[in-house]
Amino acid sequence: MKKVIFKNFIIILILALLLSGSIFSVIISNVLLKNTRQNMLNILHIMDQTFDYEVDLKPQIDNLTIVYEGNKARLTIMDINGGIMADSGVSDHMDMDNHIDREEIQEALGEGNGWARRKSDTLKMSMLYVSYMSRHGDYILRIAMPFSGLVDYVLVLLPAILLSLGVTLIISMILANRFSRSITKPLYEISEELLKLQEKNPELSFKPYEYDELNLIADTTKRMADAVRESMKKIEFEKMIRQEFFTNASHELKTPITSIKGYIELLENGMATDENMKMEFMARIKKEAQNMASLINDILMISRLETKEAEITITEVRICPLINELIESLKPLAVENEVTIEMSCKPIVLMVNYGQMRELFNNLITNAIKYNKPKGKVKITATIEGKDAIFIVEDTGVGIPEESKQRVFERFYRVDKGRSKKMGGTGLGLSIVKHIVNYYNGSIELDSMLGRGTRLTVRIPMN
Ligand code: ADP
Repeated sequence: MKKVIFKNFIIILILALLLSGSIFSVIISNVLLKNTRQNMLNILHIMDQTFDYEVDLKPQIDNLTIVYEGNKARLTIMDINGGIMADSGVSDHMDMDNHIDREEIQEALGEGNGWARRKSDTLKMSMLYVSYMSRHGDYILRIAMPFSGLVDYVLVLLPAILLSLGVTLIISMILANRFSRSITKPLYEISEELLKLQEKNPELSFKPYEYDELNLIADTTKRMADAVRESMKKIEFEKMIRQEFFTNASHELKTPITSIKGYIELLENGMATDENMKMEFMARIKKEAQNMASLINDILMISRLETKEAEITITEVRICPLINELIESLKPLAVENEVTIEMSCKPIVLMVNYGQMRELFNNLITNAIKYNKPKGKVKITATIEGKDAIFIVEDTGVGIPEESKQRVFERFYRVDKGRSKKMGGTGLGLSIVKHIVNYYNGSIELDSMLGRGTRLTVRIPMN
């Protein structure tokens, strides 16, 4: 890139020099021609003043040796018909052609003076002719001189021209080199900095450059690198969460399996001496199997929520009948825990997935029953506030201690592990609820007082 910039810079410079040189020489040529013509005209004017037209003109013009710019001038005097009367170049002017048709003569006849530039047949070189109408009689005076314009000067000036060209070229090469370096150096630095991306925790920093475009590249690169790093971190974090989930899930499954195995071994070894004990062991095996079943159900629910969100079918779901039906199915659990359930429901229709909504209310109401006290109450309210549907599940139960309030939505987190297990809890219920609420861009709020009760408020936008 540096070479290309350098090369192009020099090409542009040479073109500019050529172009400006041509324009300059055309202008100078014109000035030179004009000045020479004016000088020649002045000479003719003086000659006209000094000549005595009454006597022989030949000796008069021969006496005048006009040397102009190192070249001898030739003088001619004609009558107004173009007939030659005297010529400094020839001894016998009688041999000369009539000059009336010459361009400079025609012009002088019309305008008082005239000029022409052409190649002389006799001298075989470019000549400048200037003619002048005498103010003292019917005569035309003409002066002719070799004139090759700038060419003569160029030869004289050649060393100076070459020297200045050389100096210009050297200075511009130095500048072009510096200029191309000022572009390529930042690029090298940027790419050098980009190599850091291979490191574990790259911290890119670019210094400000002279060119805005380069700063833009540096800035965009930095932002891109930051974004890549952020998403890498997110991926790492998600990987960690997943890993943790699998570890926890296997651990949770291992516990019931171990105890089932234990009870079966007890039965096999004839440790259950009477029928009652046998029934007791069987009941415990059944309970552990049920725990495993709900754990697997919850794990499946989470994995569905995480992976199959795109395939979810959305329908119009009437919330009140759904809650009613749930309360009906949870009645045995409520009776068992001596809890009464109240409901106040405004008709609400949501565009949601039925299974997810059922799971959400099921988890909240089940918790409100499970973590209640005998003679306790559960109150379910469904209302509309602005554009949101609001669902409140309150209980008069054991409450949640301050330090656990943030953590109850984490997977497998339980405040009282013993109680949760006894109640068949998996520790996944509230994390599933939060997942579903987030899916519908809603929010969930927890208010709880230890020993007094808990209130969970879910807000879901209705469109
Ligand atoms: P679990 O299956 O154990 O109920 P959840 O995720 O539903 O798991 O709840 C996590 C923990 O939060 C529970 O173990 C319990 O300690 C606490 N919790 C949830 N709901 C309530 C509630 N209504 N009252 C008191 N504690 C609750």
